[in-house]
Amino acid sequence: MNKPGKLVLVPTPIGNLADITYRAVTVLKEADIILAEDTRVSSKLMHHLGIEKKLWSHHKFNEHKAVRSLVEKILEGNLMALISDAGTPAISDPGFLLVRGCIENGVEVECLPGPTALIPALAVSGLPTDKFVFEGFLPQKKGRQKRLLNLAGETRTMVFYESPFRLAKALGQFAEFFGSERPCCVCRELSKMFEEVKRGTVAELYHYYMQHPPKGEIVIVVGGAGSGEPDEVQD
Ligand code: SAM
Repeated sequence: MNKPGKLVLVPTPIGNLADITYRAVTVLKEADIILAEDTRVSSKLMHHLGIEKKLWSHHKFNEHKAVRSLVEKILEGNLMALISDAGTPAISDPGFLLVRGCIENGVEVECLPGPTALIPALAVSGLPTDKFVFEGFLPQKKGRQKRLLNLAGETRTMVFYESPFRLAKALGQFAEFFGSERPCCVCRELSKMFEEVKRGTVAELYHYYMQHPPKGEIVIVVGGAGSGEPDEVQD
C-alpha cells in the first residue's frame, strides 16, 4: 500500500540562516512538493541548503483557489512541505486555508517547531509571558481604532506585528487608547546583525521613534491593562 501523504508546515529563519533546524532541512529534502510564498525568496534559502527542487507558488492571492487540488495531491500520497518567506507558515502568512482543507479531508498535518518572530519578542520583552494575545497586524485604516478600543481593557500581554513606517503611529495610538504609561517593548530585526530591543513606556518609545525613524522588521509587545502596577497592594 502507498504511504499516506501529509502536509508539513516548515518554519524558516526570520533573519539568521543558522536558525534553520535539522528537521526542517530533512523534511525539505524528503518532500515531494514544496509550496513557497515567494519562490524567489525561498529559492535563495534552498540554494543555501543545497536543495535543488522546483518550488510551487502558494501565496495569499492563490491559496483559496489552490486548496482543493493541493489536498488531492496529498491524498495521492505526496509529502507536501509549506514554507513562507520567513518564520512559521500560517502565522500572519499563508497556510491557514490549506491546513483547514487538509483537516476537513482527513489529511494529517504537522508543524515543525522553529523560527517565528513573536515568541522571541515576547520572551525578551520583560513583560508577563504566562498569558498573552497575538494580535498580528492591526488593520491599517478601517477598523484600526475600534480594534484598539477593544484592546484597551485587555489584561494579557499583547503582541503586534507592525511595519517600520507605522511604528510611531502605533505607539502614539497605544498611548492614546491604553494610557501613556503602559510598559512596552519594541523588537527590531530579531536574529539579524542590527537587532535592537528597546523597552519603556509607550509614550517614551513613541518619542524615541519619532526622532529615530526605524528600518527593518518590527514586533511590538505591550503590557496588558494593570501590568504597570504592582501585583499585590499591601496594607
Ligand atoms: N510568519 C512570520 C512569523 O512566524 O513570525 C511572520 C510573517 S509576517 C508577514 C512579517 C512580520 O513579522 C514583520 O512585518 C514583522 O512584524 C515580523 N518579523 C518577521 N521577522 C522579524 C524579525 N527578524 N524581527 C522582528 N520582526 C520580525
